[in-house]
Amino acid sequence: MPRPERIFRTDAIILRRQDFGEADRLLTVFTPHHGKLKAIAKGSRKPAGRTTGHVELYTRVRMMISYGRELHVVSQAELSEPYLALREDLERGAYASYVVELLDHFSEIEEVNTALYNLLDVTLARLCEPKVDLRLLVRFYELKALELVGFQPALFNCAIGQEKIEAQDQFFSVQEGGVVCPLHARSGKFISPMSLTTLKTLRYLQTRDYDVIKVLRVDDMLHLELERTLQNYIVHVLERRLKSVDFIRRLRRLAQTDQVGQEPTDTAEFEEKR
Ligand SMILES: [Zn+2]
Repeated sequence: MPRPERIFRTDAIILRRQDFGEADRLLTVFTPHHGKLKAIAKGSRKPAGRTTGHVELYTRVRMMISYGRELHVVSQAELSEPYLALREDLERGAYASYVVELLDHFSEIEEVNTALYNLLDVTLARLCEPKVDLRLLVRFYELKALELVGFQPALFNCAIGQEKIEAQDQFFSVQEGGVVCPLHARSGKFISPMSLTTLKTLRYLQTRDYDVIKVLRVDDMLHLELERTLQNYIVHVLERRLKSVDFIRRLRRLAQTDQVGQEPTDTAEFEEKR
């Protein structure tokens, strides 16, 4: 027996968009209370597709979605925040695509993370602000996103010995997920040196509000080290995360083959709003 369709209204940020059939688009959107969803915007490639035509990348859209068992359908879409600068300025657009890609990797379909949604929305808005240090903003975003998906790097205690970190040049271990003191660095793996200035800046980024961060002046050398440290860590986290997702999927498939013939359980609970 098919489940009855449910309809809900939601804010949604467009993460990805691809052509689907003759006139439709398949959208990947991120929503505050339903997580990441894939949905078909019917007729959105036709000039007259007014109801679902407002589906540009990185925009925030007010949507009506019909939740189907196989396929969700966007039945209405109204642009609420165009974030124009992200399509008019090449550099801002490139950063927006990185921000969105990272979020895409950090989230699973229908896994709700309202704080992550809010972070994405405010980051897209900040990317549009005049006179913004884009690299600093993106480092701030990376640290917040890591925290919200459970991979906050340890920056105050040694990730191996757990003792408090002294004010001196240190090391960073992607494997241990944080800073490592010179003594323990000798025994650790995947460790690279990190200057005291980089450590202090990362701590600042991790613990302060963006309003305090955005007035910081960071030189090129420091920018490069911040970027290298966080990028190496993120690559490591994503591999771990992707592996664990694979493992969970394998388990799920195994569980399903055990339960052939049984009714699938309904795990999705949606608030109905009309
Ligand atoms: Zn140590």
